Amino acid sequence: MLAITCYGGVNEIGGNKIFLEDGDTRFFFDFGSPFKKRARFFGEFFSPRPGAGLLDLLETGLLPPLKGILREDLAGKDLWARFASSEQHREMSIDGVLLTHAHMDHSGYVSFLRDDIPVYSTVMTAFVSKAMQDSAPPNFEKEVCYSLPKGIKKGYLRSAGTYKPRPFAFVDVPALSEEAQDFWYSSPVRKKPLSSEAYRCAPEKIGALKFRFFPVDHSIPGAAAYAVETSAGWVAYTGDLRFHGRASYQTEAFVQEMQKLRPRILLCEGTRLKEERGPSERDVFEHCLEAVRKAQGLVIADFGARNVERLVAFYNIARETGRTFVIMGKDAYLLDVMHLASERVPSIDQFPDILIYKDFKSKISSWEAEIHRHYSGKIITAPQVREDAGRILLCFSFADMLDLVDIRPSEGTYIYSSSEVFDEEGATDMRRLSNWIAHFGLRPLGLPREAKGWEIPPAERGFHSSGHACGPDLLDLIRRINPQTLIPIHTEDPGYFIQHLRDTDIEIRLPIEGKTMVFA
Ligand SMILES: [Zn+2]
Ligand SMILES: [Zn+2]
Repeated sequence: MLAITCYGGVNEIGGNKIFLEDGDTRFFFDFGSPFKKRARFFGEFFSPRPGAGLLDLLETGLLPPLKGILREDLAGKDLWARFASSEQHREMSIDGVLLTHAHMDHSGYVSFLRDDIPVYSTVMTAFVSKAMQDSAPPNFEKEVCYSLPKGIKKGYLRSAGTYKPRPFAFVDVPALSEEAQDFWYSSPVRKKPLSSEAYRCAPEKIGALKFRFFPVDHSIPGAAAYAVETSAGWVAYTGDLRFHGRASYQTEAFVQEMQKLRPRILLCEGTRLKEERGPSERDVFEHCLEAVRKAQGLVIADFGARNVERLVAFYNIARETGRTFVIMGKDAYLLDVMHLASERVPSIDQFPDILIYKDFKSKISSWEAEIHRHYSGKIITAPQVREDAGRILLCFSFADMLDLVDIRPSEGTYIYSSSEVFDEEGATDMRRLSNWIAHFGLRPLGLPREAKGWEIPPAERGFHSSGHACGPDLLDLIRRINPQTLIPIHTEDPGYFIQHLRDTDIEIRLPIEGKTMVFA
């Protein structure tokens, strides 16, 4: 008997934690951080206490109280007695997590799973996750690839021992190269080595169930959809996907394979149901190229470097407009790692005129020192950027804003080429970003403005392309795959599917968080 329980991603965008059980096999599709739920209780500087382990997360419902799969070392004393009577409390063991991609709303809370639970993902998803963890300050909510075990000292949980990697299973490669292995086992801190736990390559089953993965187009490389063969038939899960990026052929191939499999159940995302298709990555390239051509002084492009498609686009824009492309050290690290995971991502050496910005820092991590050493001929500093501002395209984001204090640009353009969906916390960040841009007298382009209800002025649209398919594209995908049952996930508007699929035989089951759905 097949049973599915959604512990996250229900009536919310992200936080997906979809539990599947069939016979003796039990696993999750994704185990993400629920951003919006988290923002109800916590903020940027007000986070769950690492010293309290799982307590704050269980208390606020950010994590389901599932005994047996969450980290024992974070349980502290009497934790489970406290949550034993809660409605969702359950004791379980699992065979692993099928992780779709490296966005935190899908991967983040893997951090709280026992460190012997395998995570299945593409090698790109695993490597991007590790590079992001390596290059960020330690944060117990972001220990996706390796974690620091904790023990009780004087009543509080404190870190003890050295980093321990999770046992990953790379679904898309037969083996890791030696260089890739070195990266996988490299520790961000020299004093704390990473122990070398076994990883696996090319697994075909999770528990006793056969599964398949399908690369799909999304705003981060390595994204995959999955299908698992259960006793009730194939269960397919889209993860996040779109049809308007350069890898749209992958999403198309996924749909065609699904038509052949005829899945019993399709779990489908629904992030942007009411929006129009919007600009494609190609349109974004044209728009940004035009803007950079007209720009005077420094040009700053704000986007996440994980979006490698956008990064390559801006590199080409820099070349076409005679500007030097400058990226941050952490982006250079990420690019190196992505190239290690797939030759399709160009290496830094394949970008002949790329430079790496070296910022002021009191402490430099080992990965960053290595980047500075390895690319010593490609380093650029703040005074040099200021000197040559009119011939530079700088890749920055809000987190790098203080570097502008060092650069002191006299004129320039700030192209906001990033996600527009945000909550209250995002609005606060956006206000701050606007203030910094105004402070330096830069011309904003594509920046949402508060006066217009956080809308981008019509004349400035087309500088960003979403990572998600729009409603009509998803309806088309569902009609073509034609599953017996559709379970909407990762959406605030699941009713949209009922409304628009009335003319089909597809049964639509709206999940309720923590409630089990059984399928014969
Ligand atoms: Zn997502
Ligand atoms: Zn995503």
